[in-house]
Amino acid sequence: MKSEMMSNMKTPPPPPPVAKKKEEKGPHYEFMGPIGTFLLIFFLPFTVYYVNMACRRNKCSILEVPSFPRNFVTAFFDVEAALIFFGWLAFQALLAVLPIGSLVEGQPLKYGGRLKYRCNGFFALVVSLAGLAVAIYLKLPVTKVVDKFFKLLTVATIFSFTLSKCLYISSRFISTKKLAPGGNTGNIIYDFFMGRELNPRIGPLDLKFFCELRPGLIGWVLLDWLMVYKAYQDTGAFPPNLVLVSVFQTLYVADALWFEEAILTTIDIIYEGFGFILCFGDLVWVPFLYTLQARFLLESGFTLPWYCLAPITVLNLIGFMIFRLSNSQKNLFRKNPKHPAFSGLETVATPSGRKLLASGWWGLCRKPNYLGDIIMATAWSLTTGFGHIFPYLYPLFLLTLLIHRERRDNEMCAAKYGASWDRYCQRVKYRIFPYIY
Ligand code: NDP
Repeated sequence: MKSEMMSNMKTPPPPPPVAKKKEEKGPHYEFMGPIGTFLLIFFLPFTVYYVNMACRRNKCSILEVPSFPRNFVTAFFDVEAALIFFGWLAFQALLAVLPIGSLVEGQPLKYGGRLKYRCNGFFALVVSLAGLAVAIYLKLPVTKVVDKFFKLLTVATIFSFTLSKCLYISSRFISTKKLAPGGNTGNIIYDFFMGRELNPRIGPLDLKFFCELRPGLIGWVLLDWLMVYKAYQDTGAFPPNLVLVSVFQTLYVADALWFEEAILTTIDIIYEGFGFILCFGDLVWVPFLYTLQARFLLESGFTLPWYCLAPITVLNLIGFMIFRLSNSQKNLFRKNPKHPAFSGLETVATPSGRKLLASGWWGLCRKPNYLGDIIMATAWSLTTGFGHIFPYLYPLFLLTLLIHRERRDNEMCAAKYGASWDRYCQRVKYRIFPYIY
């Protein structure tokens, strides 16, 4: 997950290359600049609605235009959904500020000092899942959340727009030293999309850190299990495919939260402002799109025999192993490059003093962690069979996102490490898929 970048405790982080480019030749735009970001502001919410609307009971077709309700307001909004959403947000915020779990220092800020972050995400996940189990035991009407899927989606979408707008406005009143290098171009649309302020906080709550890992990610897992329970209520049985995909995704999220501290060295935390793309991505895209396979399995009732599920489980475990081991290898290398585990491994020296791993997992391809992620996403979709393209949209989205992210990171590393990066790329030829890409 995003929380998986290296933890570089011993060496200071290199300067953000984006800022350098901006000084040299005007604003450095990503996502095709103001026009691209303007279109994405509409395209992203449209995609989440369209894809989910295309999957209704006994019908999951992406090729047919979904039927639109006569009354949009009653179909897509109600006050109870708003109360559920804000109650969930408040509950997660409360857990996030509880003095439980370690208080970890972030990377050095460019204006000096470091921020502190309370890392208790795994605890929040366990409490949330336990809370769900208790609510089910008490026979509370929890599946209302699944019934109100579209209404919750609307509230989350409106909230993410409002939050990004508030963040943009409040960023106009802060010192420029607190601005992110990439979201401060002067173009309103672009800066609103990318985010201007680097680390907006309300008291002890760091908004970006909180949204990246808590309400959306834990919400995703809870939605999965609520769908499992709903299927049980509807049919009197636990559909094995739905249970399996929920287990896979819970493992994925639990892993991210167990290694929560690692997010403090990711691009998102160190360089990116908190704007629309992260607000919408964290609060809407993740919980309402990453539940695609579960929604498909709930709506279609599709099942597979155990001899199909067994190899899918093996594939998921292979993906998870590549993902976890490669991420851990890099994290350990960044923490302690002299660790005996690296004695036999090839490295490439760089002028900054930091080395690049060029063998082991990181000699296989330049992003073995992305490879593992994509394999897992494919395994999740395989639980839905081959009858519909719809549930395969998640691995397709992830593939696009990670290809784009790899190119972005490649650019940044080329700026950071110059000729050493070229040497590393000559040594490790493939970007994500060995012998293919
Ligand atoms: P990486 O974990 O790949 O981190 C990139 C950084 O690692 C580089 O900038 C560089 O930083 C360092 N690095 C790159 N190559 C080497 C090497 N050979 N040796 C040592 N250091 C190296 O990127 P992400 O933060 O994008 O991804 C983290 C995880 O999050 C991945 O597993 C990915 O799959 C997942 N993810 C999931 C998403 C989702 O929506 N499901 C979205 C985004 C990511 P430096 O040299 O400065 O240390």
